Amino acid sequence: MPQATKYDVIVIGTSQGGRFLPIVFAKAGRKVAVVERGHVGGVCVNVGCTPTKTMVASARVAYLANRAAFYGVQTGPISVDLQAVRKRKQAVVDGARSYSESNITAGRGLDLDLLRGEAHFIAPKTLEVSFGNGETRQITAPLIFIDTGGRPKQLTIKGVESVPVLDSTTIMELETLPEHLLIIGGGYIGLEFGQMFRRFGSQVTIIQRHPRLLMNEDEDVSDEVTKIFREDEIRVLTETTPQRVEQLSGGRIQLTVSTSQGEQQPSGSHLLAAIGRVPNTEALTPEAAGIHLDKKGYIQVDEQLETNVPGIYAMGDVKGGPAFTHISYDDFRILRTNLLERGSASTQDRLVPYTIFIDPQLARVGMSENEARKQGRNIRVAKLSMNAVPRALETGETRGFMKAIVDAETNRILGCAILGLEGGEIMSIIQVAMMGKLPYTALKEGIFTHPTLAEGLNALFMTLDP
Ligand SMILES: Cc1cc2nc3c(=O)[nH]c(=O)nc-3n(C[C@H](O)[C@H](O)[C@H](O)COP(=O)(O)OP(=O)(O)OC[C@H]3O[C@@H](n4cnc5c(N)ncnc54)[C@H](O)[C@@H]3O)c2cc1C
Repeated sequence: MPQATKYDVIVIGTSQGGRFLPIVFAKAGRKVAVVERGHVGGVCVNVGCTPTKTMVASARVAYLANRAAFYGVQTGPISVDLQAVRKRKQAVVDGARSYSESNITAGRGLDLDLLRGEAHFIAPKTLEVSFGNGETRQITAPLIFIDTGGRPKQLTIKGVESVPVLDSTTIMELETLPEHLLIIGGGYIGLEFGQMFRRFGSQVTIIQRHPRLLMNEDEDVSDEVTKIFREDEIRVLTETTPQRVEQLSGGRIQLTVSTSQGEQQPSGSHLLAAIGRVPNTEALTPEAAGIHLDKKGYIQVDEQLETNVPGIYAMGDVKGGPAFTHISYDDFRILRTNLLERGSASTQDRLVPYTIFIDPQLARVGMSENEARKQGRNIRVAKLSMNAVPRALETGETRGFMKAIVDAETNRILGCAILGLEGGEIMSIIQVAMMGKLPYTALKEGIFTHPTLAEGLNALFMTLDP
């Protein structure tokens, strides 16, 4: 058996968390190896947040161009050049990727090796890295961080092997615009792509097996999103379960779905499966290290992100739970604090904000109304339509509402859902108030510039006045 190269620290994966850890450990004088089988930067930079939000920006321009007359602006015929959209997307991705890569490789004087290959455990603290050209290398370290993330879940309905199925990565590489895009899945990825392609000019049908889109949100939030999507002429089918798929002569894709009204056969030119993600744990063979996984293959960790094997930690999507880039980055902060700064950070009680980049954005932090009621909390709910916010009226973007959940005894804000123009930014203001443990009255009575969207928070919390 070849001798394994000894390191102090090994990091597998280079996403939001994984690309910073090697640097801070190397700067602390440790000998570090970081292994990456794909592009540096992981999903977010290469096939997740960065490209989708870049394309969402193009879609928004198309939307506004189509609404130009509403603002008194005359335009000519509007069309979308998908190749130009992709080119712009790729330029932004390439920039972000090379920035991520240079963060790791520019560490001159640091004892840091970037190994471009796939790692798998062969013993508790030993990995083999395969470089794809038949070469392998064994590496070992007392401290190992797994940041291997996840990938799209494959569709498994009958007939699927005989039709081309797009996922969140391949849909962004289409050469031409789909005439009619069928989307299986009513979660955030399906919704972002659905609205994007509708705005580019495709017909879009979203097929959701649950009773509502965005099933984890409160009913009024899901209903408003559905209303907005239907206004945008997106067909939304809920409580609809795909049974089989086939390709008709001429290439059209036909789904057979079961609904409460019986079977239906929606058809389209393209099919996107946006049915969730699965963890990248098979190739890693964590069982060779004795690492416990849950039933879905996610790595089990404690509140300090340590697995059952002392010295082996997992971060980001591969450990399950909220799957967002900022959570992967927060995992990095927890590990840095505990392992390099002798702190005691944990995942317990951390706020998990998120924004779904549909238009208007849906942003959430803290408890939903349903969660608070389930916990039997004594709550008050503040709610304000966006058409009561001067800034929204002036910009002609009045769709959606703001909603905040307040503890009736302490007046503290427990959570909010902002479905509105720049919802992510408005939610972040409420998040800061929550971090500072401010009562809702601080936002109700605070002075905000007129006319900003933030000013709408005065009116939102005034709805709690008797
Ligand atoms: C379409 C889409 C849009 C998204 N939009 C947003 C958004 O707007 N905001 C947001 O916060 N989140 C968004 N996300 C989620 C976000 O991308 C993920 O939560 C984030 O990337 C998770 O990071 P991670 O640390 O788990 O690692 P990942 O980003 O999943 O990266 C893991 C890395 O590990 C590497 N790897 C895996 N196995 C091995 C192995 N055995 N050996 C070597 N290397 C390996 C992979 O190549 C990859 O580079 C989106 C995701 C998708 C798919």
